[in-house]
Amino acid sequence: MAFIPHYIDGQANSGTSGRDGPVFNPATGQETGRVALAGAADVDAAIASAKAAFPAWSETTPLKRARILNRFLRLVEERQDDLAAAITAEHGKILSDARGEVQRGLEVIEFATAAPHLLKGEVTENVASGVDSHSVRQPLGVVVGITPFNFPVMVPMWMFPVALAAGNCFILKPSERDPSPSLLIAELLTQAGLPKGVFNVVNGDKEAVGQLLLSPDIAAISFVGSTPIARYIYETAARTGKRCQALGGAKNHMIIMPDADIDQAADALMGAAYGSAGERCMAISVAVPVGQATADRLVAALAPRVRALRIGDGRGDVDMGPLITAQHRDKVAGYVAAGVEEGATLVVDGREAAGLGGEGFFIGGTLFDHVTPAMSIHREEIFGPVLSVVRVDDFAAAAAVVNGHAFANGTTIFTREGDSAREFTHAIQVGMVGVNVPIPVPMAFHSFGGWKASLFGDHAMHGAEGVRFYTRLKTVTTRWPKGIRAGADFVMPTLS
Ligand code: NAD
Repeated sequence: MAFIPHYIDGQANSGTSGRDGPVFNPATGQETGRVALAGAADVDAAIASAKAAFPAWSETTPLKRARILNRFLRLVEERQDDLAAAITAEHGKILSDARGEVQRGLEVIEFATAAPHLLKGEVTENVASGVDSHSVRQPLGVVVGITPFNFPVMVPMWMFPVALAAGNCFILKPSERDPSPSLLIAELLTQAGLPKGVFNVVNGDKEAVGQLLLSPDIAAISFVGSTPIARYIYETAARTGKRCQALGGAKNHMIIMPDADIDQAADALMGAAYGSAGERCMAISVAVPVGQATADRLVAALAPRVRALRIGDGRGDVDMGPLITAQHRDKVAGYVAAGVEEGATLVVDGREAAGLGGEGFFIGGTLFDHVTPAMSIHREEIFGPVLSVVRVDDFAAAAAVVNGHAFANGTTIFTREGDSAREFTHAIQVGMVGVNVPIPVPMAFHSFGGWKASLFGDHAMHGAEGVRFYTRLKTVTTRWPKGIRAGADFVMPTLS
């Protein structure tokens, strides 16, 4: 059985806490490894290493930092199959999806390799006569990323390439459910020439997180995970004087207008709702068809597609893998039972497909119709392959369902009509919006982040927002006394 250590000061580190936790292959239900769970001393060792590395790394020129990231980019390209295999082995998502995840991470590294350009400041000549002003963005120090299980490569890569490009040292606390890809990432960074201590991995659970949160040596925390933990991280970071961006849970709606191509919308919903077994923060978990006829046609198109989903080990020729743990599978099954109890119509019951994968943590695709906004299956994030259909009469009612929700990560509209689409994109109260695009995840050079209970803090991740988050602004006003050009000056200097 594999033992998954920390990575501190440029090398693997088994830790001193004496604690470890199980890592499973969710497709077989077998425990495949034990991951070290950091105690205070392990976290402190990572912080000390990062702190010691910061003076030299922050003074390394942006061009040299970018060159190391460029070498890392090439290594990740070379090893993308290994990274994808490591994701599938511990997360369970299908291999092609895991490759897609690595690709989306790669794009952020590509973005960060433009560090010399990204870190350019602004200059105003002559803010007053003979006085110039310029701004620079400087690194924060030691920064931390705490990441969820559902994207063990992509979500860390939303954070550390930009943080490193900007001159920070980084400590990653990945999910304890699928920690192995982080170790491979750390090794590739070292191979690329990153100095020791600039990137560290501390494996662990809430004990490690608590220690990171309290440390006065941490300047900023990036968090992605569930909303209750995001809120706790954000509030604690604020109390302890740290910059924080904490991305939380989601419940994403797709509005389907009467003029939409129903087959196209149904196909889009299949990938968006059931891809990665619904364990995506940008998964569409609610379809909102406008008009009864649209709803009838949509449900009729979806039901056979959901029944036809091929479920199994992500390494095989299937559409959907297992859920992350047995407990999570049972929680999702509990939501299916709650939906029935609350009066929704269960069109396809994924629990009947459970067991397909033997001891694996499987549940089949589930489809509910006649869901109302007040039901728990609509109000709460299920994070599984469960799609709810909420029927409404008109566009205004559809927008009200979306705007009435506590989460506001992503949403999309399927229509052929520009007026509804324009009104939707302008007025909807959600952070990431699509038009005829099922999962509107912004590219690396734009920024990723929701609104309301889906993001606590001011900055979204990667793109220009990421650069702002990982740097602080300094504005310099400069006046030079008259030099040898002008001879002596006996007048009191003023700024006019
Ligand atoms: P989670 O909140 O359980 O865990 C996230 C991280 O927090 C992990 O590293 C975990 O070890 C740590 N953690 C867990 N409990 C903690 C505690 N009590 N104290 C301190 N730290 C703790 O989330 P998850 O189950 O790994 O991931 C799924 C969640 O992440 C979903 O809610 C999903 O919507 C969300 N997510 C959001 C986004 C986004 O961009 N908004 C992206 C991906 C995932």
